[in-house]
Amino acid sequence: HTMVPGLGSWPERRARAAAHRPALVGPDRTVTYGELARRVDRLAEGLRARGVAPGDRVAQLGVNAVTVLETFFAVWRLGAVVVPLNHRLAAAEIAYMLGDAGAALLVVGPDAAELAAAAGPSCPMLRTDGEFDEIATAGAPLAAPPAVTPDDPAVLLYTSGTTGRPKAAVLSHGNLTWNTINQLADTDVASTDRALCIAPLFHCVGLGQITLPTLLKGGSVEPLPRFDPGAVLARIGAAGITSFSAVPTMLQMMVEHPGWESAELGTLHTVLYGGSPVQERVARAWLDRGVRLQQGYGMTEASPGVCMVPRGGDPARPVSVGVPHFFTDTAMLRDGARDELPGTPAELLVRGPHVFSGYWGRPEESAAAFVDGDWFRTGDVLRVDEDGWAEVVDRVKDVIISGGENIYPAEVEAVLVRRDEVADAAVVGVPDARWGEVGAAYVQVRDGQAFDEAAVRAHLEAHLARHKIPKYLVAVEALPRNATGKIRRVELRERALPAAAREGAR
Ligand code: ATP
Ligand code: MG
Repeated sequence: HTMVPGLGSWPERRARAAAHRPALVGPDRTVTYGELARRVDRLAEGLRARGVAPGDRVAQLGVNAVTVLETFFAVWRLGAVVVPLNHRLAAAEIAYMLGDAGAALLVVGPDAAELAAAAGPSCPMLRTDGEFDEIATAGAPLAAPPAVTPDDPAVLLYTSGTTGRPKAAVLSHGNLTWNTINQLADTDVASTDRALCIAPLFHCVGLGQITLPTLLKGGSVEPLPRFDPGAVLARIGAAGITSFSAVPTMLQMMVEHPGWESAELGTLHTVLYGGSPVQERVARAWLDRGVRLQQGYGMTEASPGVCMVPRGGDPARPVSVGVPHFFTDTAMLRDGARDELPGTPAELLVRGPHVFSGYWGRPEESAAAFVDGDWFRTGDVLRVDEDGWAEVVDRVKDVIISGGENIYPAEVEAVLVRRDEVADAAVVGVPDARWGEVGAAYVQVRDGQAFDEAAVRAHLEAHLARHKIPKYLVAVEALPRNATGKIRRVELRERALPAAAREGAR
């Protein structure tokens, strides 16, 4: 079997041509590729000395930081598996994941020390503000990095838990390498880039979309600890940022920030985003500023890229997710069989060297995730036109079936947000005695604006078929969201149930 270089060798390989160029940029230090290669080798030895062996899982908890990426590379260098955890979860959830992954070590940032202690891990901890830096600067280097094959696991990455309990997707060195090649094939990421990593590194958008591709090319990456729309807008101009990837809510918060108009965005050549649907007006606001916005569609299980808007985009299709990546195959699941792409909306199937092989410790769910051999069921309904451009219609699980008709919540939401006073909206299905299910719309009203239910109903009636109009319209101050900006529909459904039950009893 030919040895394909593991992710842990990337710093050393890039240092051959770019030893003195900056790789990672932090608030108080910049790490060149040469330094990164040396620090990663010493950290890998430090992990080994603490009992971590190839194949062991090393969990990581804390906000984006230079040390997070150093930890990732060190774990990979050792042939071990990194498990990035969401620092916005509760201690009990962290404890569950540490047990689920069977972590041998937990690397903790200073911001997450309390949370880590509360989770009461049974494995040892290593603080990044403790001996970590001493190991990285003065420790002994790893004597003989183990050989890694493309199929060896590199990351256990938990899904967002939007539709149920988060599952850990096992992503191999080969999976993440192929995703990186796909990103490089379909974006303008370059060796001269100065990228911001603003999406969290415990999520596939943060790791896969810009960070790894930029580091392969030899550009620099600045991990941002927390997202602040004003600070990001200011940083773009101040540091000459060329590229970043984000989730749609971040793009929206930047557009709505007072600093938007005056922000200098001239150095940006690539802004990637994805992970949940984007409002058309938000995409337009960025396109109107001349930013080359490329929407991506993907999921944790695909490392994550599946589709991307081609470079330059198409102003006529502002919310399209574009076409499949270079090394990605796609098909539709229609009537239980694999079918061609164009035609009626259907569940998208994906196959490619970047698609995972299963969930950690869940053989039944892993088997159920594939059909017809190695085609992954995305659980998403997409519409593909004759040119091969795709649009995400909705998740299969979110489709509302009312009186035998399919209602896609995303379609109703897109109509709702066209009104000025509606900052955002979410429609969920709730049980109904007469129709089986009906829609309940939660409307986030813009600060200082009034919500006139009759006017909103009239607007819906003007734009949507009767059966698609939500039975309930509820104004809320904010929609419940998870750490990556996805709306927590499960929570909204639970909230809607009492109202639906009262109504049904009438
Ligand atoms: P879980 O699988 O635990 O329910 P999740 O699916 O939200 O959570 P992720 O892997 O983070 O976890 O998200 C992938 C999903 O996000 C996709 O399956 C799709 O539903 C949605 N998504 C990704 N990109 C886009 C996009 N550009 N537009 C609309 N939806 C998107
Ligand atoms: Mg999912």
